[in-house]
Amino acid sequence: MRKLAFGYSTRCNIRCAHCVAVGDIPDNRKMDQKKAKKIIVEMARAGVGGISFSAGEPFLYLNEIAELVNLCKQIGIYTRIVTNSFWAKTAEASEGLVSKLKENGLCQLRLSYSRWHQKNVSQNNVLNAARSCQKIGLNYFISFVTDFSVEDDPYEQFLRDHGLIFFPEPVIYAGRAASFKPRNILTDYQANCCEMNPYLTPDLDMYACCDAGSHFSKTNFFHLGNLNDNTMEQLFTKTETNRLYNLIRTMGITNIASFSGMKARKIITYSKCELCRELFNSPGTLTRLRDEAKQLATWCR
Ligand code: SF4
Ligand code: SF4
Repeated sequence: MRKLAFGYSTRCNIRCAHCVAVGDIPDNRKMDQKKAKKIIVEMARAGVGGISFSAGEPFLYLNEIAELVNLCKQIGIYTRIVTNSFWAKTAEASEGLVSKLKENGLCQLRLSYSRWHQKNVSQNNVLNAARSCQKIGLNYFISFVTDFSVEDDPYEQFLRDHGLIFFPEPVIYAGRAASFKPRNILTDYQANCCEMNPYLTPDLDMYACCDAGSHFSKTNFFHLGNLNDNTMEQLFTKTETNRLYNLIRTMGITNIASFSGMKARKIITYSKCELCRELFNSPGTLTRLRDEAKQLATWCR
């Protein structure tokens, strides 16, 4: 099933120190709502079955997003909203907003949570939002962003103490987190395959990767094109037929790094997105991998 992260607006009401957004100037780009509706209809025609409203903070445009969610419901697209829960200050306020979204057909709420988010938003907001979902019958989960340090233990314990559904997610060392001291990696030598869901920006640029990939500024490796010059079908076909993208999905970034000549001892010192950046944001390495993609595809056990 085709899926996409929909960046309706990059505006956010808080400024997390780990955010993949870059720069000190607040980024306030927003899509025109009429245009967004047209794009969603085009997506349905192109076989998109799931949209995640992400990027900035979608609840800043709650009424507009609720209308978009409603449209998705009418044309059979699964919807998720990613939020920092700033709006869930009280149980009553939270239940009102969750009900509104559920009535409009929202399928899932993803609550972002970390020691960086919680410098600006109380943990109780996340708890209120999760409890509202449980009460109203809306599927939810908490995305617990962590660098796996001991500092995060109390944050994890809070989720456990309240019996909430959560999944740890490694912090991505890109954007504002690029200056963080990377953690020591203590893990097996693993493939690091990546599903790669595309991301659409408010300016209608589409990228093959929804996380750190849009910041590969030296090569623009994941940029698929702009919807003003391409159809949705053309951009999805691009990401599905690109040989290197498909090798990232199937072979994994670790094997590609090994093929490129990187030592195993060095490979295990990178997290997934960092290793990806090392390979694909380096013009020299990328040119070589493109030239040798055919041999790479046959380089298997
Ligand atoms: S991580 Fe999310 S909540 Fe935090 S500044 Fe970035 S977009 Fe806003
Ligand atoms: S590993 Fe690469 S393709 Fe996957 S999310 Fe990270 S930057 Fe994107």
